[in-house]
Amino acid sequence: MPNILPIIIYPDNILRKKSINIKKVDKEIRQLVLDMGHTMIAKDGVGLSAPQIGKNIRLIIINTKDGIVAMINPKITKKFWAKEVGEEGCLSIPDFFGPVKRSKKINVIYTDLEDKTVKLKAEGLFARVIQHEVDHLEGILFIDYLPKKKQPPV
Ligand SMILES: [Zn+2]
Repeated sequence: MPNILPIIIYPDNILRKKSINIKKVDKEIRQLVLDMGHTMIAKDGVGLSAPQIGKNIRLIIINTKDGIVAMINPKITKKFWAKEVGEEGCLSIPDFFGPVKRSKKINVIYTDLEDKTVKLKAEGLFARVIQHEVDHLEGILFIDYLPKKKQPPV
């Protein structure tokens, strides 16, 4: 059975650490993906990264209309020039939202749960969520893009 995992809340330092690569896609990773998926759906999120549940490893999941996509060691290989502003929130920063400018289209490469390398082009909300979640792996939060006076209270 999947478990609902506790979410690490800003300004916890775990959210500011750089995450490490995953060396092996094993049972533990697959279980973690199930638990993270369950947690994301329960909390009504569009994406979730491993640091947000307390693990500084390079794993993100995205909630798409076709189901949950898990990306292991995701790398954005290209950010297209055209950008757009969209309102973002984060399960680690409850009840706080702000406008963030991101590339409309990106190329991404990652390892899937079958240990296969996947390359894809993403656009729109899917591209935005990937960029937001990959930022988490670098210790970057969406509020870092907001002016100082628009930061959430600590
Ligand atoms: Zn987030």
